[in-house]
Amino acid sequence: MRSVLISGAGIAGATLAYWLVRQGFAVTVVERTSSVRARLGGHAVDLFGPAVDVVERMGLLPAIEAERTHNELISLVRPDGTLTDIAVDEVASTISGRHVEVLRGVLTQILFRAVQDEVELVFGDEITSLDDHAEDGVRVTFAQGQPRRFDLVLGADGLHSGVRRLVFGEESSLTRYTGAWLGVYSMPDVIGIEGRTLLHLAPGRLIATYPVRQTGEARVLLLERAEQEPPGIRSDLAGQRELLRERFATAGWRVPQLLDHLDSADDLYVDSITQVTLEDWTRGRVALVGDAGYSPGPAVGGGTSLAMVGAYVLAGELARTEDHDQAFAAYRAEIGEFVRRSGRIAPAVVAQSAPLTPLGVRLMSAALRLYPRLPLSLRSWAAARRPGPANALAAMAMKEY
Ligand SMILES: Cc1cc2nc3c(=O)[nH]c(=O)nc-3n(C[C@H](O)[C@H](O)[C@H](O)COP(=O)(O)OP(=O)(O)OC[C@H]3O[C@@H](n4cnc5c(N)ncnc54)[C@H](O)[C@@H]3O)c2cc1C
Repeated sequence: MRSVLISGAGIAGATLAYWLVRQGFAVTVVERTSSVRARLGGHAVDLFGPAVDVVERMGLLPAIEAERTHNELISLVRPDGTLTDIAVDEVASTISGRHVEVLRGVLTQILFRAVQDEVELVFGDEITSLDDHAEDGVRVTFAQGQPRRFDLVLGADGLHSGVRRLVFGEESSLTRYTGAWLGVYSMPDVIGIEGRTLLHLAPGRLIATYPVRQTGEARVLLLERAEQEPPGIRSDLAGQRELLRERFATAGWRVPQLLDHLDSADDLYVDSITQVTLEDWTRGRVALVGDAGYSPGPAVGGGTSLAMVGAYVLAGELARTEDHDQAFAAYRAEIGEFVRRSGRIAPAVVAQSAPLTPLGVRLMSAALRLYPRLPLSLRSWAAARRPGPANALAAMAMKEY
């Protein structure tokens, strides 16, 4: 039985573990945090086309659909504070026929529940070194546990992957900043958003808040375009809070009220929208999957679907042959075009979501208001030309393994 170590118990890690166990591998998963991210919240993520097929093949689509976010109304905040409602269906139906939005924490839990009894799960630990020159596999050392050997090591440890750093090099040389950064956190629903996503645009900035049905809280997303990563983005939590206050205090609407809750948020996440630029996600007996290998950038859409499809394809190809070189080559070939297309999403989404000038903001707001009123044929025509995740994914014909 071939042994596999997966680093990271996220979306890609859980999907990989599920399929590898079914294909007869002995699977160990090492996760840095102390439990599968138990928080029911997290941000909303999308499953498009082929990723919906993957969860359907896992028998998990009904459970995931039962947890869908039901954020069916976007309300655009006008300059005078009144709202224009846009039904998500009006926009989404022309973009993708198969689409489920669900919270990342909920999705991870559903995926893990399906496999946790069949794998060895090690929490609160991480890989510290990998020796892939050993003839009998990969020798691995851990921060906490004893050294071990595995036939293969798969890095599913996210945008800031430790496996990628150990095997491929420092993050700064393997990633590209796309011109925007963001902060996200949860807070009590003091605004009374009542099942809708509120969207406010200011020059170079986008502020959104949407409900988290499972917790009754509101989730806040603050995104700013900036030519350079702002200094302070990698500082401690206090520094990151300060950065958000400094950059968003003048963004208008009720943003100061949202910022008031920064100090009490226990899940603040601040990061630049950075994409991974590796051309090959495999080396020797090590492969990267999901954000670790080919993140299109956080919050631009597509990352979750790409992670699930990548994991499904990698597990499928590994099951087809004992020769990992051959399996890795097939994995690269199967998802290569999809990864390349996904790489084009972030720059376009960033530019579209936060126009830089007041005129740009007015035009974008008008376009958003107008879009649902266009005839279906025109909306479909426009949707087919959008560089969004659904279109990038629609291009992918996924094998059945
Ligand atoms: C604010 C935000 C909004 C987003 N919105 C969307 C969206 O709307 N649509 C969409 O499709 N995608 C979205 N994404 C992206 C999406 O969350 C990722 O693409 C997706 O989670 C990738 O899954 P993954 O399994 O590759 O990585 P992750 O889900 O990040 O999982 C990585 C796992 O590895 C663990 N880990 C990290 N380092 C180590 C280590 N050294 N050792 C062991 N374990 C480690 C982590 O704790 C985590 O459990 C968003 C991301 C962010 C941050």
